[in-house]
Amino acid sequence: MSQYDVIVIGSGPGGYVCAIRCAQLGLKTACVEGRETLGGTCLNIGCIPSKALLHASHQLHEAEHNFAKMGLKGKSPSVDWKQMQAYKDDVIGQNTKGIEFLFKKNKIDWLKGWGSIPEAGKVKVGDAVHEAKNIIIASGSVPSALPGIEVDEKVVVTSEGALALPKIPKKMVVIGAGVIGLELGSVYARLGTEVQVIEFLDQITPGMDGEVCKTFQKLLTKQGLSFTLGAAVQKVEATKTKAKVTYKLRKDDSEATVDADVVLVATGRKPYTDGLGLDALGVEMTERGQIKTDGHWATNVKGVYAIGDAIAGPMLAHKAEDEGMAVAEVVAGKHGHVNYDVIPGVIYTHPEVASVGQTEDALKEAGRAYKVGKFSFMGNGRAKANFAADGFVKILADKETDRILGAHIIGPMAGDLIHEICVAMEFGASAQDLALTCHAHPTYSEAVREAALACGDGPIHS
Ligand code: FAD
Repeated sequence: MSQYDVIVIGSGPGGYVCAIRCAQLGLKTACVEGRETLGGTCLNIGCIPSKALLHASHQLHEAEHNFAKMGLKGKSPSVDWKQMQAYKDDVIGQNTKGIEFLFKKNKIDWLKGWGSIPEAGKVKVGDAVHEAKNIIIASGSVPSALPGIEVDEKVVVTSEGALALPKIPKKMVVIGAGVIGLELGSVYARLGTEVQVIEFLDQITPGMDGEVCKTFQKLLTKQGLSFTLGAAVQKVEATKTKAKVTYKLRKDDSEATVDADVVLVATGRKPYTDGLGLDALGVEMTERGQIKTDGHWATNVKGVYAIGDAIAGPMLAHKAEDEGMAVAEVVAGKHGHVNYDVIPGVIYTHPEVASVGQTEDALKEAGRAYKVGKFSFMGNGRAKANFAADGFVKILADKETDRILGAHIIGPMAGDLIHEICVAMEFGASAQDLALTCHAHPTYSEAVREAALACGDGPIHS
């Protein structure tokens, strides 16, 4: 029996980051992973492969739509789907092997297999039982099913199947207009698939700033995606090669059917805790099937902690990573902290969408006095030069103190631009602090500064 200071269960961004930080803090650490490769959902079937396909398909879009305008003429590239998949798999391989290297470098034992916790202080992997002073569960999440809809990962797929389709479908129905559905829908729309998104609510990406939502939907529609909103999917009938989706419009209860080669069910994800033995261990769960934790990621069972998608909060890789680092500090007897008010959310479509902090709707609802500074990328020289002038930056600041409360960006590199505002928020900065900071020209970041200026005396370029 081996003895550890910490055993982490799961090697996704929560688990592997946690294991590395534990080892860096001098704790004897092991990480259990049942998958063939390290890196969890994110590296194997989530963030990384989806971004590889988004990147490749965006290059195609640029070649088809913008190259000729810049004087780059010639035959537009054709799609070799097998090669695109090979590129994606290579990117996954480089990343997962990278984690393996980091484990070796930090002397972390990878316990291969599915782990369970027979009792506090013990982790069973296969027939072996290991002892650990601290156990950190980072078992992640899986797609949540729609009642009555059977997923075969061929015709009716989750994101996992959608990342590895044998061929590019002619018609795809995406059920759910959330981040994953829209990112993967965008990939296939750029590759020539007719993509129809069916969403239960009356808007796409629920929870996002209303103005951004409307602009986002318009831009995606321009790119060829079609949206059926306020529609409840009733059933999906599939053969080996086709599917028929029946939905009911909520406004008048009328029913319609649509045929598709592939149906992507992208209706959210749920925590994955199967096989861990949490019931027998007496670990408290929330009503939503998440592991219940306190402010230090401790469960009600002494020495057992949980982080990432398996607990409450946004299901995001960087949230899991931050919790991984913080809980490592806690078990090492130090102080771990995550500021849940400043966790950015990004959609990696083109243009990208990024947000942090409060939305305008939430501020209104809370009755908080605020001001809005908005700046369109149309006034940004770099964006205009790069055919990327769609979208805007919107900063929300407290009306009295000018402190930044939130920001919402739709536009080029929004997922990178948002971090300037995250740092500002962490430092309790005012919009004027951003506005008075010199920003290099010509950069997309100037649009952030202009939006900050718009919270005060006004932007220069609009
Ligand atoms: P996971 O990454 O889910 O890892 C959990 C690991 O634990 C898995 O490898 C699993 O095999 C293992 N495991 C579970 N139980 C056991 C057990 N009993 N024994 C051994 N091993 C076990 N988030 C972003 O922030 N940005 C993005 O761009 C993004 N894109 C995404 C795209 C897609 C298509 C999907 C599906 C998700 C995306 N996400 C994205 C979400 C992100 O992947 C998750 O939030 C993140 O992976 C959660 O990390 P985690 O460590 O909690 O769990």
